[in-house]
Amino acid sequence: MAIRLPILTSSPAHAQPADNPREKCGVFGVWGHDPSAPVASLCYLGLYAQQHRGQEAAGIAVSSGRRIIAHTAQGLVPEIFDEPTLSRLNLHASAGAPVHIGQNGDSAGIIAAGAIAHNRYSTAGGSLACNAQPLLESYVGGQVAIAHNGNLVNADALKLMFERRGHLFHTTSDTEVIVHLLASPEQQQSPDPVAATLRHLQGAFSLLLLFPDRIEAARDPWGWRPLVLGTLPDGRAVVASETIALDVVGATFDREVEPGEIVTLSAAGVSSRRFADPAEVAAHCVFEHVYFASPASTVFGQNVQVAREVMGEVLAKESPVQADYVLPMPDSGRSAGIGYARASGIPYREGIVPNRYVGRTFIKPTQAQRMSAVRLKLNVISDIVRGKRLVIVDDSIVRGTTTKAKIEQIRAAGAKEIHLRISCPPIRHPCFFGVDFATRDQLIASGRTVEQIRQFLGVDSLAYLSLEGLLGVMIRSPKHYCTACYSGDYRIDVDHPTTDETISSQMKMF
Ligand code: SF4
Repeated sequence: MAIRLPILTSSPAHAQPADNPREKCGVFGVWGHDPSAPVASLCYLGLYAQQHRGQEAAGIAVSSGRRIIAHTAQGLVPEIFDEPTLSRLNLHASAGAPVHIGQNGDSAGIIAAGAIAHNRYSTAGGSLACNAQPLLESYVGGQVAIAHNGNLVNADALKLMFERRGHLFHTTSDTEVIVHLLASPEQQQSPDPVAATLRHLQGAFSLLLLFPDRIEAARDPWGWRPLVLGTLPDGRAVVASETIALDVVGATFDREVEPGEIVTLSAAGVSSRRFADPAEVAAHCVFEHVYFASPASTVFGQNVQVAREVMGEVLAKESPVQADYVLPMPDSGRSAGIGYARASGIPYREGIVPNRYVGRTFIKPTQAQRMSAVRLKLNVISDIVRGKRLVIVDDSIVRGTTTKAKIEQIRAAGAKEIHLRISCPPIRHPCFFGVDFATRDQLIASGRTVEQIRQFLGVDSLAYLSLEGLLGVMIRSPKHYCTACYSGDYRIDVDHPTTDETISSQMKMF
């Protein structure tokens, strides 16, 4: 298989160890190029709107209807894309053939071309420039660019199987096995190579595949990660991880891509087929609502901001405390803090101010200056907290080290009592479905009681939202949500050791 690597530009490494959980990626795609609202420019907006889903790398792949080019790099969206780069990508799309799209066929000026885009934070494969997506490759069937949100639990076994067949891999990302599957003779001989490929994948995937003549958008049968469809005012179809991206480009929300569904966006319009039946019970990631998704998005049919406020209300009812103020930990605890204050009747105050200009590239000169780094990122207003009993609300604790430093800062500003309230249960188990939690031994709640965590953090009291309380907030039946990082209840086998036995079982599938 001839492999063409993505076009990469050099950029300093951005990734730093962080205490916050990190999403693996957001995707965006649009089919149909309109010079007045060109595809690469729409992708740029879609990426910007979903920057929270990945800050390590980003990219846009554009098809002219005949050929795909891509630009990917490490860094934030505005660091990667400048005007000349977007113009070059848009110019490529402009080379496509004119086409009429839309219900009335009256969208004159639209060109049969499209683009997909990707924001990345790595959970599989590490922080390497070669892992930036969309992953653009050439294979026997032509060209394909792939943008993937999720994590494939059988990627290592598939990769070893292909390596034994003599395939070479050019990235360390789990996503590359999709191209090797698609290119293999078994799939190419199938009447539907994309569907046949997807049936071999195990784990979480909301995927966009850009072929020269179409976009294929697919979601795993459990629906772990979100994927939504929308329509631009001129009739062009749009697909994105979150509805906020649809809002930003002026598209209406149509529906979710269903678990087990492939939706094709092309000059012929939008069509749907299935590669698998949806799982009997879905496994929507409940952490999307707790932390990841934008408050402005509607995810799995439920607005994120509203859900977070209700989580705060339930937390206040489950774990009340006498206090003078409710203070959110910015920005992640703000929504739940509003809910906690509303349900408890305790006044809500903003007493911790984030410095929005401290980027991820801030380098702590020495370990001794660690506290200065925390102070630079967060400023506690001592006139508000001094002598007060505070309820501090945050959405989650992963390793606990940053939370401990923040608590020390609030204490140093003169708080009389600090009662920490967390709007989700303790995270005790790793995620295998696209979220970069620490390993089990790095999770503060793994193997520790809440009292032990309280002592470590140095707070007067600590309480988490119960799992029942969290699931009670969600609008779908509790059985349709993945809660594995809290409960250890993994919906599928996540243990795919790359032994001879597992590799030969993969080979038998071909
Ligand atoms: S394990 Fe946790 S973070 Fe991962 S998909 Fe399940 S709920 Fe989401």
